[in-house]
This record gives sequence, structure tokens and C-alpha cells, in this order.
Amino acid sequence: MENIDDNREIILHGIGASPGVCIGHAYIVDTEGVDVVRKYHIDSACLKNEKNRFKSAAKKAKNELRAIIESTPEELRQHTNILETHMVLMKDKMLYGKIIEAIEKEQINAEWALKKVVANVQATFKNLDDSYFKERASDVGHVSDRIMRNLVGMDQVNIKDINKRVILIARDLSPAETSQIQLERIKGFVTDRGGMASHTSIIARTLEIPAVLGLDNATSIIKNDDLIIVDGAFGEVVVHPAEQTLEQYYNRKISYEKHKAVITQSGHFTAETSDGFHLKVMGNIELPEEVVTAVNYGSDGIGLYRTEFQYLSRPNFPGENELFDKYKDVVEIMAPKPVTIRTLDINGDKAVAYTSDAEEANPALGLRAIRYCLKKPDVFNTQLRAILRASAFGNVRVLFPMISTYDEIIEAKKILNKAADALYNEGINFNENIEIGIMIEVPAAAIMADVMAKEVDFFSIGTNDLIQYALAVDRGNKDVAHLYQPLDPAIIRMIKRVADAAKANGIKAFMCGEMAGDPINAPVLLGLGIDELSMNPQTIPIVKSMIRSLKIGDARLFVKDLLKQASAKEVIKLVQDRYGGILSEKVYKK
Ligand code: PEP
Ligand code: MG
Repeated sequence: MENIDDNREIILHGIGASPGVCIGHAYIVDTEGVDVVRKYHIDSACLKNEKNRFKSAAKKAKNELRAIIESTPEELRQHTNILETHMVLMKDKMLYGKIIEAIEKEQINAEWALKKVVANVQATFKNLDDSYFKERASDVGHVSDRIMRNLVGMDQVNIKDINKRVILIARDLSPAETSQIQLERIKGFVTDRGGMASHTSIIARTLEIPAVLGLDNATSIIKNDDLIIVDGAFGEVVVHPAEQTLEQYYNRKISYEKHKAVITQSGHFTAETSDGFHLKVMGNIELPEEVVTAVNYGSDGIGLYRTEFQYLSRPNFPGENELFDKYKDVVEIMAPKPVTIRTLDINGDKAVAYTSDAEEANPALGLRAIRYCLKKPDVFNTQLRAILRASAFGNVRVLFPMISTYDEIIEAKKILNKAADALYNEGINFNENIEIGIMIEVPAAAIMADVMAKEVDFFSIGTNDLIQYALAVDRGNKDVAHLYQPLDPAIIRMIKRVADAAKANGIKAFMCGEMAGDPINAPVLLGLGIDELSMNPQTIPIVKSMIRSLKIGDARLFVKDLLKQASAKEVIKLVQDRYGGILSEKVYKK
């Protein structure tokens, strides 16, 4: 590990996840919890000490619970039953006893013993066909988290509560944490982990705060209050900048902001190629408030509303009216332009704390998105009712995420129809002809696109996941980021297949993954036959401007060449040679 005690200037290089330059003081947050527990051996002589460490963490956790129960007003006491259950669980033989035993017999550290025993107990409960026991599995999880926090001596950091103008430095930030960032306080952020297509980086771009991810050791090099510079366009972080460096980056900041102002102004012109082809360029949003940004950048509608963010960072599922109010706001602001509301895509990297689901070994391949909703029809129905009700106030499309089989479409539509029938019977207005689409983000769906096209009104290609699943590259893992290539021949062939299947069946093929927001990809997507692009709102102006410099006829011919290439490197070279020049006049340079 590098040790910088002498305040000399150092430049770190990571993944430039969100452009812009900020200069400020570092604020280290350790938001990692139970997931990063490591296993280590305990010598026989230290076993007693290790067991005592666990016992005192459990005792502290129990005292915390008692304090909560005692401070609860009498009239609300009936709601503390669950906490009483948690207190009992803390002394339970199956849990407490087994953890002590694991430390002793396996000579492992208390954190690892806790994690291991809890996973076993939860698996046993979950396998029992009884809802009571399934609930207990989630209680065990809560109890374990509380003990773990005491074991590792971790205070919970609440990003929302930070009240200084700082730059956050963290090992990792979850999408939920990132969405808590208060723009007037946090200037930018820097993390050790994370990749370009992670949700954390997507949110940073939407919030328009500079971010550099995947730095590996930023948290060990940077100390609280260090003066740092973050350049999110070039993935640079300067620690202890010299006077001259400060001036250089300050100038860069000014010129970036000037460039952005100029390009933004052009966002309201239409995206029409010089030979008259008009492509709609839409905005992706995570929170309803972002719709204003989308409008300001000239969006032709909302191509992806990631609704799951309304479910994160809260203690329980939102109700129908709460969801409806938010959807209606967005729909009314955009009307008559379309708003594509994607149904809940939780789990994967967006776990919801209040569900009782066990930790999954492979969350990206697990009970995520539509799979989760089909398993929880009540949660799904509540959201569908809210979406349908909002459809009476503008132009709404509904979009199902992570479809991997035909049957999932049929089942999802059945639940949607049932929700519509119920609303009809209740005399509530909604659009009976609402357009239904599916995300094409699992290779199986791309392969079955010709069959699936018969069941829906549109496709929306989610390249963030499609690349992840097709090339087997974790979208948030910096160590494999070099393999994460939107222009890989396998990906462009899949996109072609999907666009062709859509055309042959008279439906539209849209794209809402990050690939759509990189202006250099515009000629490729145009040539492949994509009908509409949706992206982070701030990239709309430059993508529109790129489209205006192109000819659809040329793009179609060009793509024929691309489809013959064997490697991403060759495709990228062809695209750069042909279109890099046009783009370089439009992008921001150092
Ligand atoms: C995608 O996978 O490309 C997509 C748009 O969805 P998300 O990034 O929310 O997974
Ligand atoms: Mg996705």
C-alpha cells in the first residue's frame, strides 16, 4: 500500500464514470457491511477471546433492541413484538450456540462464524413449506446484521446526513446510497470498485456529478479532509494537488462547463439525418424529479423510467397511491410525449432491504426483475394498477424487464390484464390500448425475438445487461471492464437480430442501455435499424447532434461491413476511422 505522509501530489487513474471536474475536500465513508466479511484462522490461545468478542457484540445488540422497545410509547408497544422475537433469537441455541461452537471447533473468526451459521439457518427455514418459518428467516437476517455491525464496530453512515460540501470517497457505493446523494452537498465521488455500466455510475451521470470509479486503492491512499480533484471525463483523481495543478484543472472545469452549455443548447433540435431520417432520442430517468432534466436536455420522451429507485432506501413497499402520484407527475409533464414505465427491476445489484429474501450466491442470475414480480403478484399488481391509472393522464407504455422466456411474457400480460379488468370494474379510467414492451437484455430473449415479437408492441434493448450476460462480464467489475465491449461483434449481431425480428413483425425496436448514449455508436445503431434511442438525459444533445451529421443510407451500408468483422477491436477501428473525425469536433477535449 502506498503511504503518502508528505503531502506530495499524486494522480490516480480509474474509470471516468460521470464527466465534469470538481475540487474539494475528501470525506471517507465506509458503507460496506456484512457482505465483505473475511475468513481468518484463530489460534487456539485466542479462541476464548474470539468467543467473548462475539458474546459482547450479541449483548450489545440485545441492549440496543431493549432500548428501542423501552423507548417505544405505550400505545405503539404492540408493534414491538417483532423486536422481542429478535431478542429471543439472539440467545437461541440454533443461532447463538452454533456460532460459539463454530468459532471453537473450526477456529474461525466470529464474523465468519456468524455469516456461515446464519446462512445455514436461513436456508433451513426457507426450505420449510410454512410461511411462519419463511418469515423467521428474515428475522434471523436482521438479528445477524445487528450483531455484525457491533462486531466490526461499524456505525451506519447515512449519506443523506452529510452536511458539508465534500467529495465522497468509498470502497463502493450501492445504487440506493448513490440515489441519496444531496446535490447541494456532494460535489463528486470516488470509489475503489465499480464499472462504467454499474447503476452507481449511471446515477452519477444522471445527477451530473463528476465520478471516478474502480480506483482499487483510493480509500487507502486518500485521507479524510485531503484536498483532491476529480476529473470524471478522463477518470483522474489528483490527491494533494500543487498550486499549478489546481490552476490547470480549474481551467479544465471552466472549459468543460462552457462546452456543455453550448452543446446543451442544441438539444432541442430534432435528430434528423441529412437524408431525412428522423430518430427519436429519449431520456432515461431513475426518479420522477429527473424528468425536468430530461425536458431541459431536449428529450423526445422518457424511454426508460427505472421505477425501482422508489422502492430502495425506505422501510417498506410503497403503496398504489404513492406510486400513482409519482407516475402521474412524470406522465403529465411529458404529455403528449411517451413515458416508458419499466416495472420493478429489483435485486441483482439493487437489493431491497425490507424483503425477506435470502442472500443469493449469484444475484445477477437470481430472483431479479420480472422473476421477482411473478413470484410476488401482490407487489406486481400494486405497481401495475398505479401504471394503468397513470396511463389515463398522457402517453404511457409499460415495459417488462429481464424477460428470458416466452412464458414470462404471457404470465406478466395475464397479471396486467387482471389488473386492468379490476380497474374497469371499479370504474377507474386507464388506457385500454396501453403499449406493452419487453426489455431484450438476456441473450435468450434476443434469440427468441421473432417469437416474442408476436406478443408485444415494442422491444427495448438493454445493452447494459445484454453485454453482461452475452459476454459473461459483470457490468460492475472493474477487473473485467476491458471485456465489456458494446461493439463486440456478438453484440452487434444480436442487436441486428432483434431489430430484424421487430421489423418482420411490424413492431418497434428501441434501445435504452448505455450503448445508446455514446455518440460514436449512433451510426451503428442507425444502420442496424434501431427506431428510437434512450439515454442519460445529459447525453441527448450530443447524440442528436451526431445523428444530424449522418446519412441513414451510409450507415446501413457501413453496418454491412461491420457485421463481417471478427473482433471488437476491428469493429471499433472501423467505426473510429469512419466517424471519429465527425465526433471529435463535438466532444470535450482536455
Ligand atoms: C440495461 O440493462 O441495459 C438497462 C437499461 O437496464 P438497467 O441498466 O436498469 O439494468
Ligand atoms: Mg437491465
